[in-house]
Amino acid sequence: MLFRSTLSDTPRVSYKEAILNGLPPEGGLYVLDSVMDMRQFFLYMDSETTFQELLSAISPVLLQGELNPLTASEVAIDAFDFEPELQPLDEHYSILNLYNGPTGVFKDFGIAYIAALIEEFAPYDKKTMVLSAARRDTGVSIAHAFDKRKNIISVILYPSGTIHGLDEAAFVENGGGVLPIQIDGTFDDCQRLITETMKDRDFVGRYSVTTANAINVGRLLPQTFYYLYAFIKVKKRLSSDLRFSVPCGNFGNLIAGLYAWKFGMPVNGFVAAMNANNAFANFFSGRTITPKQRLTTISPALDVCFPSNYERLVSFYDEAPLVMRNMVFPQSIDDETTRSTMKEVWMKYGIMLDPHTAVAFAAAKKSAEIKNEEYHTVVLATGHPAKYAEVVSETLGETVAIPEKLAVIKKECKPTACIPPHLDTLESTIASCF
Ligand SMILES: *Cc1c(COP(=O)(O)O)cnc(C)c1O
Repeated sequence: MLFRSTLSDTPRVSYKEAILNGLPPEGGLYVLDSVMDMRQFFLYMDSETTFQELLSAISPVLLQGELNPLTASEVAIDAFDFEPELQPLDEHYSILNLYNGPTGVFKDFGIAYIAALIEEFAPYDKKTMVLSAARRDTGVSIAHAFDKRKNIISVILYPSGTIHGLDEAAFVENGGGVLPIQIDGTFDDCQRLITETMKDRDFVGRYSVTTANAINVGRLLPQTFYYLYAFIKVKKRLSSDLRFSVPCGNFGNLIAGLYAWKFGMPVNGFVAAMNANNAFANFFSGRTITPKQRLTTISPALDVCFPSNYERLVSFYDEAPLVMRNMVFPQSIDDETTRSTMKEVWMKYGIMLDPHTAVAFAAAKKSAEIKNEEYHTVVLATGHPAKYAEVVSETLGETVAIPEKLAVIKKECKPTACIPPHLDTLESTIASCF
């Protein structure tokens, strides 16, 4: 399986190179170049197959020559002490719970796997620096996944006042591998600093820098696996077409689903579920996303005006625009409908949805109504309801039980350094800690 940059005429690279580079040196983002048909490998799997078994069987085939079956299985076991969980509701809907990881959001899957793979792929005799921007709990997920990895330092950039839930024993100054730096600025400043650092080829070479942010294609592959997992769990019960409904912010999860389809997963469509920040609305006319004012909603992870995976989306549509039009169905859901859907699902099935999952559920319903066709839709539950306990309990009038692991990550932490949002300050801060 090879990767290339979204810019044309750049060299093809292996998965290992793509992961360790983070971003292509030429610019753009890595996308899949050649795709294998994996149907023969997962069509025979049945609902008894575990997530780790699926990974151990499929990843060495996808990464032939890069990951042998034994290592693939070790990486899967090392990365995951949690699993996706398919919860059938009725003839028309199932929910794929992706919130069983350490921080209660689906991002734990991509982060856990990329951390285990970077450790496997990185040189033994040299430190590798993994630079990431984080807000809310992504930092906790990254620090958790990268803690105690051989020869890896995980530098995490936070916007002002958002560091919490880290284990201070894991910090570099205490002998661990985590270096939290607070940037006096916004999350966008943190992301810009990462892009700028990655362009400083001198610095990147000296410290072997890569990133664990979703711009690294290494985060997408493990997300592809849970679509395949959902398919093997649901396939026996299917009597109609299969769809997935995906709450979309930066569109990484949707791209992972599209890769699963490219690997041969039989699926009839994806609902791209957005909130009022409907970044996809203008995409079809002229293939651009017009940046709009960001609206604040009750599903904050979807409050994205310009998705970081935009170039990857474009590469799909450039390849086969008509096919994509029949494969991806964008829907926009307002807060009121999000809340009424949370209530409806609670009344009908006794299940609490977090607001992001409710956006996807509402979008799936709306999409099926418009076309007036029968589907079975797997709705991706991307967040644990307890993460958004306030909105959930206010909407349902019920108290939401908070699992202990999610309660702990609210505790505030002191960063190792607080710096202004300038590239030279960042680079000298990092250098002084190495
Ligand atoms: C990050 C996030 C999303 C959006 O996922 P993308 O891959 O950025 O589209 C959806 N729901 C929750 C709960 C999230 O944390």
